[in-house]
Amino acid sequence: MSDGNSTGHSNYARSQPAPVPPDADDGVRPCPWCNSGNTHHTLRGYVGGSNDRDQYLTCNQCRRITYEIVSRTPRDMRLGHFQVGDIWRDHARQTKYVITRILKAGASETLLYLRPVVRVDSEAV
Ligand SMILES: [Zn+2]
Repeated sequence: MSDGNSTGHSNYARSQPAPVPPDADDGVRPCPWCNSGNTHHTLRGYVGGSNDRDQYLTCNQCRRITYEIVSRTPRDMRLGHFQVGDIWRDHARQTKYVITRILKAGASETLLYLRPVVRVDSEAV
């Protein structure tokens, strides 16, 4: 007779979700606008030498750029009155985003985390 050892899984209380590192590169990201996998993911440059302060997805199919993280100065922040949940517009490309997170990256830089607002209804442009 075997011992009746408890084999139940211990449930860890997950009070906080695991933080997602901003530079997590998990391969191909589909374009949110046309669903194409033919995209190029440009990460923020953390080390000197890279000029990219924003993180974005470039689509080779529809040629759109999807911003994921944009860098803003304290002056931009004061003028923009950005808040989580607000709409951030890319006027140049006629795209809209929801600000999902605001992270102060330093004394002179604040990062806006963006999620594209994709219209599901067919828009007549
Ligand atoms: Zn696309």
